[in-house]
This record gives sequence, structure tokens and C-alpha cells, in this order.
Amino acid sequence: MKAKLVNEVEDLRKTLRRHEYLYYVLDQPEVSDAEYDALMNRLRDLETQHPELITPDSPSQRVGGKPREGFVKVPHSAPMLSLDNALNENELRAFDGRVRELLGSEPYQYVAELKLDGLSMAAHYSESRLAQAVTRGDGRVGEDVTENARTIRSLPLRTSSSPDHFEVRGETVMLRRAFERLNLDRDEKGLSRFANPRNAAAGSLRVLDPAITASRRLEFYAYFLLVDGRPHFTTHWESLNALAKMGFKVNHNRKLCKDLDELLAFCGEWEAKRDDLPYEIDGVVVKVDSITQQGRLGFTAKAPRWAIAYKYAARQAITSVENIGVQVGRTGALTPVAHLAPVEVSGVTVSRATLHNEDEIDRLGLQIGDSVVIERSGDVIPKVVRVHTQGSYRRRFEMPKHCPVCGGKVVREEGESASRCINTNCPARLKESILHFASRGVMTIDGMGDVLVEQLVDRGMVQSVADIYDFTVEKLTQLERMGRKSASNLIRNIDKSKQNGLPRVINALGIRFVGERTAVFLAEEFGDLDKIATAKVDALQKAEEVGPKVAESIYQFFREPRNQELIERLRGAGLQFEYRLKRKVGGPLAGMTFVLTGALSALSREDARQRIESAGGKVASAVSKKTTFVVVGDDPGSKLDKAQELGIAVIDEKQLIELLEGKV
Ligand code: AMP
Ligand code: ZN
Repeated sequence: MKAKLVNEVEDLRKTLRRHEYLYYVLDQPEVSDAEYDALMNRLRDLETQHPELITPDSPSQRVGGKPREGFVKVPHSAPMLSLDNALNENELRAFDGRVRELLGSEPYQYVAELKLDGLSMAAHYSESRLAQAVTRGDGRVGEDVTENARTIRSLPLRTSSSPDHFEVRGETVMLRRAFERLNLDRDEKGLSRFANPRNAAAGSLRVLDPAITASRRLEFYAYFLLVDGRPHFTTHWESLNALAKMGFKVNHNRKLCKDLDELLAFCGEWEAKRDDLPYEIDGVVVKVDSITQQGRLGFTAKAPRWAIAYKYAARQAITSVENIGVQVGRTGALTPVAHLAPVEVSGVTVSRATLHNEDEIDRLGLQIGDSVVIERSGDVIPKVVRVHTQGSYRRRFEMPKHCPVCGGKVVREEGESASRCINTNCPARLKESILHFASRGVMTIDGMGDVLVEQLVDRGMVQSVADIYDFTVEKLTQLERMGRKSASNLIRNIDKSKQNGLPRVINALGIRFVGERTAVFLAEEFGDLDKIATAKVDALQKAEEVGPKVAESIYQFFREPRNQELIERLRGAGLQFEYRLKRKVGGPLAGMTFVLTGALSALSREDARQRIESAGGKVASAVSKKTTFVVVGDDPGSKLDKAQELGIAVIDEKQLIELLEGKV
């Protein structure tokens, strides 16, 4: 009896470990979250009934530790040195020159890796189990953050075949998406924002309560494998591949370069693409590949001579704040925006920077007239990093009492960091609402852009989002630069939007805190918009990822008479209020299974999925023998490797579209 139980527990752990690996390390899950949760619940149940069976490497034990009083200092096996910097191409050439000279006439190669902007950490494994994790600290002595590191899902608690004792060093980072979400959440709670993902990662790894670390969704990317403080393989490249085999997350964007030209090409390529990455990078780390050669090159007091960090130009600049205005968003929130003396930051002229809210202005200690450091990162609007010098004539910013767009009353509620225009008819809110409604991936109404929406609202042609379903060619042609042809195109696109499924309709409504993901969960749970609209706060929380705050927001949305009216008009227009997983039996793609990887250009992921499904095909999240085609976009992930390994046909977006149109 006992043996059977022990077996079941071990099997569950093995299965859960595999799914964690597929999900968190490879980004290609094979089971749904619900299936994973069911397995985890079963394991937890068994462990609760038989606590003697609990082991520290059980997947259920990631968040086990209690909050602590402080951190214990731990010396590193070998110093975690920093890297010398090359700030431009010439400095990289000079580095290469020194390497060549010191190595005499020997041939050598470099490994180029992205320099992730997080904080480095050493993880010690003993008999295949994670034994201790230590922050970099001052490089010689760090802090024991084992309990917190255990909550990082891409850091295995247990590894497959490996040396008895080894150490993995790598970077702990927070993805941009998690960072944005964390800051929004902090805004809501009236807490101060983290300045950047690196600070957020550091703050999250070094909190005393591991439950907080767990909620922050950190990632760990491995880049060194050491045994007794020394590299374990003869080349760095081999180490990276071995780490990946052992189950660690190793960044795919790496390259073995045979000369400086290849290195420079790699650096240039990723500088251009850095905004597309899900995490922040500040350059490329270049390492001499051969460990013997690394040994011959040795170290200076501060850094290895066999490696260098090629730093991308800082995307910061100093300029002055000439004024602070406010922008009114879709939820009515007034966002203060700094109007700057225009300044160039890595090729882009910047004249506006977001200040988020009043608390942020206080945190910065900013007043109009100050000169500030601004920073551009990702695709987002630049932000103010700090006050550089105070202006001699400075003036405090005051949040207007009335909405700059409609003159309506502005209110800042208890516990909220945002001030809002409370007029639901506010044109600013309406414009933003329509743009959101029509945007790609929501209702996807092509042709409904800023300029058009601006005109429509300013001329009073729409007072509610639903008005767009009453447009006629005659009405639209009254607008500037709108011919009959574009008008009828637009009408066609508006009509087409009625085919969008319920999740998109829910997302389109613009309910606070409800985005694409939550919309899907709501549709799956309730299956019908009317059921969502009438559900009580408690019932709403049955949907995945819907907590009290989100539930309250949904509930309030549907209690508002104007919103009820909107829903009725959308129903009248013929939008999909019921959730149908429509999979046609016939159709050109019947019986085919597709896996998508990389960024598509003509279609969004969601569009591609919908079109495949309505053509009778299936979309799966992971490549298996059952996959018919892998569709590859830009910058594909490891799914492509997997496809090649299994010999699955690989097609591009163009070929997919041809299949969809039945041309093949
Ligand atoms: P720096 O802080 O500029 O001296 O650069 C050294 C830091 O770069 C290390 O402490 C790591 O935190 C970070 N880093 C990021 N990616 C890598 C990588 N692939 N290899 C080594 N260090 C890296
Ligand atoms: Zn207003």
C-alpha cells in the first residue's frame, strides 16, 4: 500500500517537473494550466495526508520558507567579477587586439551572449538538488537567498545527470511584461513604482518573504557552469549547451563567432532588435571560447582579460522640463506628461516623457523648470529617471481640478494613485475607447485610426462606441479625405468585426483590469456575455486569474446604465455574445495541426489562430509528431529546433496564408 503511494507521489513529481521544464524553460507547454494545476493539487493532497513523504525538491515546495529576519552572508567559490566595458566598436577592436597579442599566433573564437540587465546569482547544486543560492554582493561575499531563488520556476530544484557538486551562475531578470504589470499593480495600491526591471528584480530577489518573490515571476538565465569554482568543460560554448541539457534556461540568442567581424555583426543585429526582446539588455557579453586560453589570458584585479561587455549606447539624455501637461486616457485617468526641450536620444527626438501620476512626481521631487535625466527603453514613451539639477525658477505641478478635454470634474479616490475625469461621456475617453475597440487583436477594424477617430468624435458623429455600427457610406463620405472607396472598405471591415468571438468582444468593452487573457478566462468560465453581466462579485471570481479587485471592476462596469445601453446596442448590431468553440469539420485545413513560433508580420498570433480554426485546422502550443506544419515567423523559438528534430514540415506566413486561401 505504502509502496504504491510512494510511487504515485514520485510519478506526480516527475510529471510536474517535466511540465515545469516545458513551460518555464522551453516556453512550450504540452498541457493546459488547468491540467497542471490538477496534478499539483493531487500532489499537495497526498503530501498533506502523508507529510513524511515531503522532500525539499518536490515541485510543491517552491514557496515553503517563512519570512526571515535578514540574510546570511556567504563567500563565493571564486570571485564573481565584473566585466570591462567596450563602449564602441574601436574599444572592441582594441580588446580583440590585446587578446590576439597575448595568445601569440594561436587561433581563437569568441562566444557572444546578450547582456541581460538583471542581477547575477550563483546557484549551488549538490547531488542534483538545488542546495544554495547566493547573490553577487560585492563579488567576493554575497547573500544567501536560497528560499527566494527556489520560487523561480526556470531554476530547477533538481537536475538530470550532472556532476555531484556544481555551481551555476547566471542572471536573474524580470521580463518587461511582468515589470509593467507589477508597476500597475503598485499604482493601484498607492505604492511607489520600480524605476526599471533590474531594480524590480533586485528588490524581488532580496525581500525577506519568499512568497513575495514567488509573486514577482522572476526568470533565471544560466551562463556559467563551475565545479570547485572552475569551468567544467574545455570550451564555454560546450558549457552553455550542457547547461541547457541539464534543464537550465540558457538564452538562445548566442553565437560562436570565429572573428571580430562576426562579433560586430552580432552586436549590431541585436542592438537593432533590442526593443523586440521580452527583457532588457544593455549590451553583448563577449568571452574567449577556449577555457585553456581563458586561463592564459587571466585576470586583472577587477575583471577577466578574456571577456568584455560591449555596451550599447545609453539611451539617456539630459534636458529640461518646460511644462507638465496631462493626458486623459480611456479609463478617464489623467496622466501627467513632461513637456521637454526636444533632445535626441539614440536617433530619436524626444519631447515628451510620461510621469505616470502625482506620486511619481513626488518621488522624483520634480518641478517644472528642472533639468532631468530621461531614458528611452523598449517601444514605450520615454520616462524621467531623476532630477538632474533643480531649475532656478521652478514651479510645482498641480493636478487640474477639471478635465482638460471636457471640463468635467476630476476626482482622486481614496487609496488610488490616479486622478480621473468622472464624466463617462468625456470625448477623450471616447476616442481612446474607440481606438481600443477597433485595434488589432481586439475587434481589428482596419482603417479606424487616430485621425479618423479624432474627426468622428470632434464632429459629434459618434457619442458611443456602438455608433460605428450605424455608419453608412453616405455618412462617412462627409468626412475630410474620405472617398466612396475607402468608406465602403471601412464599412466592410466594421461588418467583418461582427464575426469576432466573445473573448474579443469582452476585451473590446474596455473594462478596467480586463485584457485579452482575462477576457478568454471569462468567456471560458461563463460562455455567455449575459451571464458575465449578471454575475455577482463572488461568482466572477470563479474565472481564472480573476481576484476580488478585477471582479469588483467587472461587476461595477455592468451596473452602469450607460454601459448596459452600450451592451444592448452591440447585441442589436449582431456581435457575438456567446462563446462557441467553432471548429469546422470541413474547410481547407481540416485534419491539420499547426504550431506557431516567432513573430508573424501580416497576422497577429490571435488572428492566425482564428483563421486556422475557422478553416477547420487546429492550433497546438507544442511541436509533436502529430504536428502537420510549424509556421515560422521572425525570431523563432526552440519550437523550430524541435520541428527540425522531428522532421515536421516548416512553412512561413506566406505559405500559411496560401493554405488558408485554399491555394495549395
Ligand atoms: P557590469 O555589471 O557592467 O560589470 O557587467 C557584468 C555583469 O553583467 C555581470 O555581473 C552579470 O550580472 C551581467 N551579465 C549579463 N549577461 C551576462 C553573460 N551572458 N555573461 C556574464 N555576465 C553577464
Ligand atoms: Zn473629461
